[in-house]
Amino acid sequence: MSNPILDTPVEFIKGVGPGRADVLKKDLGLFTFRDMLSHYPFRYIDRTKYFKINQLSPDSSYIQIIGRVIHKKVIGDKRAKRIVAAFKDETGIMELVWFQSLKWVDENIIVGTAYVAFGKPTLFNGTFSISHPEMELYQHKPAGRGNLTLQPVYHSTEKLKKFTLDSKGIQRLIAGLLDQVIPQVQENLPAYIIDKYQLTDKKRALLNIHFPKNQQELNDAERRLKFEELFFVQLQLLHNKQLRQLKFKGARFDKVGEKVNRFYKEFLPFELTNAQKRVVKEIRLDTQRAVQMNRLVQGDVGSGKTAVALMSMLLANDNGYQACMMAPTEILARQHYASVTELVTDDLVKVAILTGNTRKKERTILHEQLENGEIDILIGTHALIEDKVKFSNLGLVVIDEQHRFGVEQRAKLWRKNVIPPHILVMTATPIPRTLAMTLYGDLDVSIIDELPAGRKPIETRHLFEGQRLRMFGFMKQEIAKGRQVYIVYPLIKESEKLDLLHLEAGIEQLSYQFPRPDYQISIVHGQMPNADKQFEMQQFIEGKSQIMVATTVIEVGVNVPNASVMVIENAERFGLSQLHQLRGRVGRGAEQSFCILMSGNKLSKEGKVRLETMVRTNNGFEISEIDLQLRGPGDITGTQQSGVLDLKLADLATDQVILAEARNTVIEIFEADPKLEKPENAILKTHLNKLEKGISFDKIS
Ligand code: ADP
Ligand code: MG
Repeated sequence: MSNPILDTPVEFIKGVGPGRADVLKKDLGLFTFRDMLSHYPFRYIDRTKYFKINQLSPDSSYIQIIGRVIHKKVIGDKRAKRIVAAFKDETGIMELVWFQSLKWVDENIIVGTAYVAFGKPTLFNGTFSISHPEMELYQHKPAGRGNLTLQPVYHSTEKLKKFTLDSKGIQRLIAGLLDQVIPQVQENLPAYIIDKYQLTDKKRALLNIHFPKNQQELNDAERRLKFEELFFVQLQLLHNKQLRQLKFKGARFDKVGEKVNRFYKEFLPFELTNAQKRVVKEIRLDTQRAVQMNRLVQGDVGSGKTAVALMSMLLANDNGYQACMMAPTEILARQHYASVTELVTDDLVKVAILTGNTRKKERTILHEQLENGEIDILIGTHALIEDKVKFSNLGLVVIDEQHRFGVEQRAKLWRKNVIPPHILVMTATPIPRTLAMTLYGDLDVSIIDELPAGRKPIETRHLFEGQRLRMFGFMKQEIAKGRQVYIVYPLIKESEKLDLLHLEAGIEQLSYQFPRPDYQISIVHGQMPNADKQFEMQQFIEGKSQIMVATTVIEVGVNVPNASVMVIENAERFGLSQLHQLRGRVGRGAEQSFCILMSGNKLSKEGKVRLETMVRTNNGFEISEIDLQLRGPGDITGTQQSGVLDLKLADLATDQVILAEARNTVIEIFEADPKLEKPENAILKTHLNKLEKGISFDKIS
């Protein structure tokens, strides 16, 4: 990275000795000048604006008030011990409360003196109070740089505060550091990009993110630094993609042959949707180019990904290559095998399955048939990527439910052939666009955004506890029509015991409402032995039970087309994507399906939005966008471990526009200058070369 001065360790900041350096590293993970300067404020207090006590409202944010402490006293004892001060201005009286550092407060907060108190007021029993306000003597000059209007507020920790590094202390350090390094900081984006997007230059951005003189300066600094942050993530992702394309050849699938044609004409029982056709075409274009394909196919549950995968595999076969398809669990692998063999026969292609449970004898035969090329398509679990499994000529790998496969496992697949196979990743968990661009930014993305015609959309209702009898009545009605019903209970680690009690109570009530022998109830939860689980599931699959009571174990992989009702208990406690996945268990047959969300009467604002969203739409992409707005990117399924989401300033929920700008810019750069040879891009090449430990452009050409 450019700006070597920013690599200097924090010990060299003025005022930072070994003790402070140690906590900065341990508590905040700040090791270098660069880290310190990107410890951005999380909030700013408008120092130009003072509130009066009679202007406060329960939703006031952090504010400042000028007043006088008119008396203070210690109340409570032990852990409830606190100091409460009455704080008065010309419009009213409020309270200031301290639970900690009581000695300091006792000695330093003086009755009769005027202060500026900062903090977030809350309303309690008709009186406003601020807990742990920041106190400054009135007319005292602000710390750090002069003329502050927007005062930065920094995250700190108890331990840092012991080293007098509270927000103010950190502010002082950063002010000093900026004085020290700013003259030497250099621009790290090419000038033409700065011009094109009218970005603030690097020096000014660093100064103004910490000490803006007004809101406009702050906005500009934020935009510049967010752009930079997202730009460099995209640069790296797209650079990796570019490298792969320059370095790795892919099998060329240049003909559509007998297998694809026959499949399309004789076997395929339906007309492909336009979305399916489009994606097949995208795959076809990729694989024609003799460049390794890395494509992600996103499609909601039921959008018909299997047919797309199968056509791609047949395309590989037509060109003399084998294909394989990998699923994260045995159940899913078996299901894929069943759906694929339902669509084709042995006389078109030879399909086999390999999982951890495949017997040794069978396995030996399989290995042989794979090596001599008898098997065209192999379906299975992780067992596929064991080193023992050798293909004669593997050309395409389909991976289902990508987020459960690590990068290392993907890499293992590449080594399965002299020419690395094309990779097609399928995911049924729709993720928001911004996340896809970041998480899968080095893949090409196809989207199946259309369900096969004639599907009846699942009807979703939200019922409160008081309407439970109505829900039972509805279940009876559907069961009388021959349908089956799922009832799902939350089982969450933190409240596991209580949840199990709820589950038991629920089952008791159900057996009363749905007595034997008229009704059979299957029960499946995570605590049961595997064999019991299998048995209960099988009962339901075979239609021997009408009701399946389960905890979330059924989320993935169960396919019972005759089940047409999904009841979700305590639905307000589930996340949106989980609700959507659960709902996807029904609506798989010809019948109208229903999802009933049961909840208590008290709902949080967010819980309410989640349930309303579920009732309003079946569209997984729309749901994922709302999920992102509600929860932020860190919590979206499958994204937790990803380092690319380690963003300091940019927010994938709100910064879509900047992200799109950054990504498009990088795409344009690589289109115009694939190896970054132009002088104006030298700065980017240097950046990447420093990041790379292994391969770089220089080593390829
Ligand atoms: P998913 O995307 O969830 O993997 P599947 O591939 O399992 O979806 O397809 C769901 C169901 O829809 C299957 O029964 C499949 O045969 C059927 N299907 C797929 N594509 C079409 C289509 N174009 N028209 C009608 N039915 C289709
Ligand atoms: Mg599927």
